[in-house]
Amino acid sequence: MDKIKKLTQVIQPLVDYPYHTRVHKLKTFNTSTLDCYVKRDDELSFGVSGSKLRKYLSLIPYLLNNKIDTTILMGSSHSNNILSLSQLLIENAIEPHLFLLGDKSHSLKGNLLLTRLFVPEKNIHWISRQEWPSVEAIAQDYGRRLSEKHTYLIAEGASVLPALPGALTLALDILQNEQLIAKQFDHIFIDAGTGLIAIATILAFSWLRRDVLAHVLLLAEEEASFLQRLESFKLGFEKLIGEKLAMDFLIGRIRFYRPTKAKAFGSTNPTIFKTISRIAQQEGFLTDPIYSAKLFIEVPIIIEKQKLSGKALIIHSGGGLSLMGFQQQLIKQIIS
Ligand SMILES: *Cc1c(COP(=O)(O)O)cnc(C)c1O
Repeated sequence: MDKIKKLTQVIQPLVDYPYHTRVHKLKTFNTSTLDCYVKRDDELSFGVSGSKLRKYLSLIPYLLNNKIDTTILMGSSHSNNILSLSQLLIENAIEPHLFLLGDKSHSLKGNLLLTRLFVPEKNIHWISRQEWPSVEAIAQDYGRRLSEKHTYLIAEGASVLPALPGALTLALDILQNEQLIAKQFDHIFIDAGTGLIAIATILAFSWLRRDVLAHVLLLAEEEASFLQRLESFKLGFEKLIGEKLAMDFLIGRIRFYRPTKAKAFGSTNPTIFKTISRIAQQEGFLTDPIYSAKLFIEVPIIIEKQKLSGKALIIHSGGGLSLMGFQQQLIKQIIS
């Protein structure tokens, strides 16, 4: 059977959230040897953070099929995953309990403000930085005490196996974009938090033997953690398709980068807001300060350093709702 058809089949059943997004050419990222396109995963949803909706395409059916009525989510107080997933859990009558890094004194703004709109205080548990390394054990213990409930623990960033089939839709959708524009991409630029979206895309392209270079910007983790996760999701992928994947083909087509500006995960600086403003004025879309703006800052540096040629696709992973927490920094771009 045709490999693309097979992949489409094994990742079913998915819920009918949108998962097709368009690609279009960029104006200010091309060089004399490279044409740059952007994939608009930011257009997948208003309330849910871009590519994350892909993970939930299979995660939500998994929870429903297993009669889960209570979930425990872990992450930072401004987590896109927690804000996004809470919405779909509530819609499906699955109660979210949040284990957040920090304490009650966090000011109610940005993503945390929106999260609080969805989740009542009684369901929010603050975990201090000292306790954070054992958050999973604490959450598990809490889950056991909800004994009459069917509970499921969702790791940071929803980087869990039931989210893999949904995450694989990105690769399939890129193939569809390529057919529509009658061009193939030689380079894909993608940002990584937990790395699941990048990993799923790399796994799918490797299995399809697509000769494309994945340029991965590691925003939250080191290369070693990414590779560890890749190894474990590779096993999950092999189980899905019932075939082994060649590791050398896989590894040979990934290049890793770390941000050169505001290096710590979640941190920002004036360069980032300048970039957000520049892209808005010159390209006509919003980027977020935690993920996508950092990617759009690094892409031209990478292109220039490696003198890349051919066709490139930058995945705009979304996340724009977090801009709500940065109004002062944005005002500075307008009134200086
Ligand atoms: C979560 C998120 C990512 C990273 O996704 P991972 O699968 O964890 O790597 C990238 N961009 C945005 C906007 C996100 O919300």
